[in-house]
Amino acid sequence: MKPTIQHLPPEVINIIAAGEVIDSLASVVRELVENAIDAGGTRLTLSLFPDLWRVRVADNGRGMDLTNLHFCAKPHSTSKIHTSEDLWKITSLGFRGEALHSLAQLSELEICSRSPLEEAGWRIKYDRDGKPIEEEITAIAPGTIVTVANLFGSIPVRRQGLPPKSQQLKEVQEIIQNLALCHPQIAWQIWQDETLWFRIFPGATVREIIPQFLKRIHISDLQYLSKEISPENTAFSPAKIEVAIGLPDRCHRRRLDWVKVAVNGRFIRSPQLEQTIVSSFSKTLPRDRYPLCFLHLTLDPRQIDWNRHPAKTEIYLHDLDFWRERIGEAIAESLRMSPTDLGTTANNRRIGKLLKVAEEKGSYNLARQIEPQANIKNEIGLLALRAVAQVNKMYIVAEHEHGLWLVEQHIAHERILYEQLQDAWEFISVEPPIVLSQLTTSQVEQVRRIGLEIESFGEDMWAIRTIPEMLAERSDRVDAILELSWGGDIREAQVATACRSAIRNGTILSVPEMQALLDRWKNTRNPRTCPHGRPIYLSLEETALSRFFRRHWVIGKSHGI
Ligand SMILES: [Zn+2]
Repeated sequence: MKPTIQHLPPEVINIIAAGEVIDSLASVVRELVENAIDAGGTRLTLSLFPDLWRVRVADNGRGMDLTNLHFCAKPHSTSKIHTSEDLWKITSLGFRGEALHSLAQLSELEICSRSPLEEAGWRIKYDRDGKPIEEEITAIAPGTIVTVANLFGSIPVRRQGLPPKSQQLKEVQEIIQNLALCHPQIAWQIWQDETLWFRIFPGATVREIIPQFLKRIHISDLQYLSKEISPENTAFSPAKIEVAIGLPDRCHRRRLDWVKVAVNGRFIRSPQLEQTIVSSFSKTLPRDRYPLCFLHLTLDPRQIDWNRHPAKTEIYLHDLDFWRERIGEAIAESLRMSPTDLGTTANNRRIGKLLKVAEEKGSYNLARQIEPQANIKNEIGLLALRAVAQVNKMYIVAEHEHGLWLVEQHIAHERILYEQLQDAWEFISVEPPIVLSQLTTSQVEQVRRIGLEIESFGEDMWAIRTIPEMLAERSDRVDAILELSWGGDIREAQVATACRSAIRNGTILSVPEMQALLDRWKNTRNPRTCPHGRPIYLSLEETALSRFFRRHWVIGKSHGI
């Protein structure tokens, strides 16, 4: 049988950045876990014995047969790369193939593995050159268990330079969490000295994973979107963009600690892509707050150069601007109002109920009624909102199919006007000009910088000849210009203008006026928050109301159910 793990030709070895990075417990974990994921494992158990310098990773993936077990710890062995050509097709994680050999050199390496095609598995111990020195048949489930013991035992100086145990464990946790975000289908168990340290339950998407790491985040605080993208160069295979974002009215971060990017299943650092993400949330979050966003790109490997950094965390992406634009669009789409936010399970239950009614009446074709989740997804922004009443001259009570919302009238209007100004920051001439006095030089410069036409009008006087269209008819337009003159960029000037022009709280609105406002608001690009980052609406979903009123307590007869 032809071995699937082969020795690499020297030119390939040279292309792969030199120097395997086994320098800590965490790097051992990363190499072993990446190999387990590459082998298709969906149940991974990591056992750490930090004081013994021992790490064990067990997976249920494709195990190795005896031939592969003989080869796998030899220098420059990998089952993934045979020629330099293959380097450009890499989609697997542990592609450098050096890890097991390095581990053999640095520790006591033992591998138990059973290929699913075989009756039993093998247990092999390797010497420092990666040569098998002990082998025996062993009864294990299909999969692989790699044990690295007495790490750095032969070079104790390597142990001394390492950070304290607690920090190494923190690094391990981060590596596992990042991999779990990239591979949500995997079930994880992490043990430390025979005690369960933490688990990660698998999910259909990363949306189910994030709340397991951030205890205050609920799944309904997150929006998930997956989009297929045709690359500019049609020779490349279609790409996929997945984003999971924290909805800006429900969660954001004090630090830039949760803008995470992965490409082809691997967590990476990309300052440009992180910047794209952060700016996509511009004017949706409160001042000095940062978004929560996980971005996962799946690209044709030929569009990536992985070798920029030997630790595989930095990459070079071809057509970077193209991807930045697509990412911006995907985030913008996730920020829109979507009926899917109202809770999938609630929708499903509802659909279930409708089906039951339809069945009893016998008037519908059942098969035709079952709509896949994907159809609901397409309704982004199309939720029908009906204005019912105004409360406290401040809130619009709006009802929709799944419950009711309280919408604050001023900031909803402010969001509409802000986006209108973003699209067209237009000026009109004022005749006669507005004359102002006692402006400082920096105020004059500021007014000019944001686009107003201003000129000297004699001693300590200035004439303003054009002003933002939205302000032109206002009686407080002088105050408005003074406010703008105090600084800030164009965006901030637009926010200030929108705020000043928006309906005040305390204004009585008729139902048709409220309806018009709601219709415009729900079609804005980011209806969730005002440009200062405040939430615009409070939602009372039917599922929550029904729970509150204990409508599931069916006692005797119906109480209006
Ligand atoms: Zn305001």
